[in-house]
Order: sequence, then structure tokens, then C-alpha cells
Amino acid sequence: MSALVLDGKSLSTQSEADLAGRVAELKQKNGGQAPILATILVGADPASATYVKMKQNACKRVGMESIAVEMPAHTSTRELLAQIDELNTNPNCHGILLQHPVPSQIDERACFDQIDIAKDVDGVTCHGFGRMAMDEDAYGSATPQGIMRTLEAYDIDLAGKHAVVVGRSPILGKPMALMLLNANATVTICHSKTQNLPDLIKQADIVVGAVGRPEFIQAAWIKDGAVVVDAGYHPGGVGDIELAPLVDRAAAYTPVPGGVGPMTINTLIQQSVIAAEKALLKG
Ligand code: NAP
Repeated sequence: MSALVLDGKSLSTQSEADLAGRVAELKQKNGGQAPILATILVGADPASATYVKMKQNACKRVGMESIAVEMPAHTSTRELLAQIDELNTNPNCHGILLQHPVPSQIDERACFDQIDIAKDVDGVTCHGFGRMAMDEDAYGSATPQGIMRTLEAYDIDLAGKHAVVVGRSPILGKPMALMLLNANATVTICHSKTQNLPDLIKQADIVVGAVGRPEFIQAAWIKDGAVVVDAGYHPGGVGDIELAPLVDRAAAYTPVPGGVGPMTINTLIQQSVIAAEKALLKG
């Protein structure tokens, strides 16, 4: 039996149609003022530049505008904090995306945490993470939030299921695990010091690969009928999981490309629209 394809590309296209309508309504109520996402790119890493461009293009597709901030590779933490402060106080900026990773001399955590919680549409602050973890209203970290939206759109049952998340990064593995826990899954988090990784993955009803190594998670480690979510994307169009043999064995899987990536961007845009609605329609 062939697995259900968790088609992030088509979900994101459907969502954009809805978001475009909400943006048009916001503009109409606010004298033509569009929601604005500020993107900050520090340095000239080509992959990061591409991701920022894709996010700006997604803004355009739904009728939003973006402020593109580009800073040199030698930027200091102090300079980046000052730039974030400026955007925090700019009433025309409704959301802030600081593209990860920033050059190594910068204290990325301090810069993420400088983002005003009301503009933390990429869900990167400790404050937002804590609120999300406590199941309070918060903008979720865009990649895991996009994965949760995908699982929900396809009615994937999570309650009581054993989810194994491989990776514990602040923007992906860790928030993913807490979101799955809040959805009543039983969650195991694995990382580089985990022992017997294949044995743990074999127990999973849901596997999330967020390792950053091409096809690191082998298909043979995954049981028949599991739901397979691959957050990775590497040159050659492969993810963190060896997906090809799973196409006939899994219950469902996110394709690479066209699975997690489009819903990450869409979640950033959706959360930006919500932030703009809160800012522009208050009072
Ligand atoms: P990261 O910060 O490098 O984290 C990788 C995680 O994998 C770490 O927690 C690390 O453990 C763990 N790990 C490394 N080697 C391992 C091993 N041998 N066994 C078990 N765990 C191991 O990466 P990330 O930012 O979370 O990204 C993960 C993947 O998602 C990458 O492929 C990235 O390209 C992709 N990604 C995609 C999107 C998207 O929009 N689609 C967005 C972000 C990231 P330790 O904590 O012990 O070091």
C-alpha cells in the first residue's frame, strides 16, 4: 500500500489563498496599509540569502510587503541588537525574521530574545518558547509549527502515539517535541549522545527527522505504518531520512522537497498576518 503524501506544497498554496484574502481586508480597513515583515540577513551565506528571498516572495504572493535589512558579515552583537530595537519600535513593522544562522561572533540567542514578543512571528524567543511549552497563546517556531499544521490538515492522530524526534535544536527539535507533547503524544527526544538510536526509532509511531545530515535516519530503522516527517533538505534533494524505501511502507510521509519547507515559510507568513491583524485592528 502506498503511503499518504503529506503535501506541504499544496497545503501552503491553499493557505496562501486564505491569507491573501485576509491581507486584502486588512489593507481595505487601514487605508491601503499592508502587513509588513522585516527580514534580517547578516552576511552573505548563499543558502540563507535564498531562504530570505523565498520568504520575501511569499510575502508578495499574499499582498504583504517586506523590509529587507542586509547587514555585513562582520556585524557585531551590539549592532544587530540596535537594528532589532529599531524594528521593534517601528510601527510599520509587524513581524521580524532574523535568518538563522548568524555569523559566529554574534550572540544569536541574545539577538533572538531582543525581538519584541508581539513581532516574534518566527517563534524564536525564549519568552515565546516558554509560552508555547506551557500551551499558552504564542507564535510557534515556524518549522515545527508548520509540521503540526500539516499533521492536523491530514487528520494524523497524535494522542497516545509514540513520537520520536531526532534532533533537539532550539528552533526545531526541542519545540517540535513540546508541540507533540501538548498534542498528547508520548515523546522521546534523541540527539547526538543518544544510545541505541535505531532501537528507539523502531518504536516510533511518528518519526521526525531534524538532524541536519543527509539520509542519516535509515528506512530499515522505521517500522511499517509509521508517520514519517522529514525536516531536512540537502543538495541533491534529499532530507534527513532515507525516504525512498518508505513510500510503500509508511502510513504517511512528508516529501523532500515539497513537504516541511513550504509549510515553514507559510507558517511564518500566517503568523505575520496574525501579528498585523492584532496591531492594525486593535482599538
Ligand atoms: P542543528 O541545529 O544542527 O541540530 C541538529 C540536531 O541533530 C542536534 O540536536 C544534534 O544533537 C542532532 N544530531 C546530530 N548528530 C546526531 C546523531 N548522530 N544522532 C542523533 N542526533 C544527532 O540543526 P537544525 O537547525 O535543527 O536543523 C535540522 C534539519 O532540519 C537540517 O537538515 C536543516 O536543514 C533542516 N531545517 C529545515 C527547515 C525548513 O524550513 N525546512 C528549517 C530549519 C532546519 P546535539 O544537540 O547533541 O548536537
